Amino acid sequence: MLTEQAPVNSLGRHLKRTRGRRLRRVMLDLGLTCPNRDGVRGRGGCIYCDVSGSGTGAMKARIPLEEQWAEGLQRAQRGVKEGPSAIVYFQSYSSTYPSLLPLQQGLETAKQWADDAPIVAIGTRPDCFTPEAAALMASAKDTFEEVWLELGFETADDAVQKRIERFDTLENFHKACALAHEYGLSIVAHCIDGLPGEKPGGLLRQMNEIKKAGVHGVKFHQLMVLRKTKLAAQWIQGDIELQAAADYIQHVADALEVLPQEIVIHRLAAEASAGELLAPQEWPSYKQLHGAIENEMRRRGRVQGARA
Ligand code: SF4
Repeated sequence: MLTEQAPVNSLGRHLKRTRGRRLRRVMLDLGLTCPNRDGVRGRGGCIYCDVSGSGTGAMKARIPLEEQWAEGLQRAQRGVKEGPSAIVYFQSYSSTYPSLLPLQQGLETAKQWADDAPIVAIGTRPDCFTPEAAALMASAKDTFEEVWLELGFETADDAVQKRIERFDTLENFHKACALAHEYGLSIVAHCIDGLPGEKPGGLLRQMNEIKKAGVHGVKFHQLMVLRKTKLAAQWIQGDIELQAAADYIQHVADALEVLPQEIVIHRLAAEASAGELLAPQEWPSYKQLHGAIENEMRRRGRVQGARA
């Protein structure tokens, strides 16, 4: 699975190996909401989520899907001579909530882009992933070669879910993964290291659950304080302690050691624009962080899955 030089089964390496090329996600916004914003689970969202629902906010800016796609595709095609270059990514908020109609229409529109984008990825919360949503996503397999369900997992501890005002559960995560397996969907789980209230070893506990759930891909994120979030107010008041980059690097390297090699690592760290990011400011750039984690694996003489 991994070459001697590659300590991580990164998405780039995986795509190169399986398709002979890299593909870039084109982020699309369906203009939806989230049960954690509209009052069904909570109001105002998870403490770290900004007003765009961790997405582009394009639909609120009245940018139609076709325009969002055309702009994103241009970026994805940079340096690509011919053939596919993109992944259609319905990213913002919970793409399956409150109704499946926008996603259904979005997928219908996206069909025409399948030559450029053989993969479609759809983000949602475990508690918003119903059998109807699973069936809709599975139907996209008629057009796209792969359909990925991107699930916000974030913590294996339900008490932390409450502390971060997310109000989902570990049980819902496992139920959503079981449903995805039933419908033949690939699961990409989003994990966060450094959440307030998380006890030591939080990322390793997430890895244990990910292995149990048969997840296919993982995205690692560090906790970032973005402007216009509840977390920003808590951080300014001094209620939030952010971990050091050195600790994050160690935690992700520990997590990679226990993750089986066949699990694809879609991200080693999160990114935010300078305008959005309040803290931490002193961390290395995304690229440097990525390199530092791979270097730490090399320093340890370990590859992903060494202790799986
Ligand atoms: S579940 Fe996602 S979209 Fe909803 S508030 Fe939390 S981070 Fe934002």
